[in-house]
Amino acid sequence: MTILESLVVALIMFLWIGQSLWIYLDARERKNRFSVIWAIVALFSIPVPLIIYIIVSRSEGQNKKCSNCGKNVKEQWIYCPYCGQKFDRGWNENERI
Ligand SMILES: [Zn+2]
Repeated sequence: MTILESLVVALIMFLWIGQSLWIYLDARERKNRFSVIWAIVALFSIPVPLIIYIIVSRSEGQNKKCSNCGKNVKEQWIYCPYCGQKFDRGWNENERI
């Protein structure tokens, strides 16, 4: 194996493991319960799972509903921009009375 071939293999391994690790850490940070599954899927191919993961994870949180006015709000928002409802940290629409 030449030096160039070794470098190419090393680069692919780096991308391969890096992709999986990044997806796992990102999913875990977002409290995605499928973080391990995403990481495993990412081990099987490059870069399709990464692209799918970014699209799916970035579109999540758009469909949360304000408990007060029912408008769509983003999960990370602290206040509802429509009615001013304050969201608690770790706010979960299912826990609202
Ligand atoms: Zn609202």
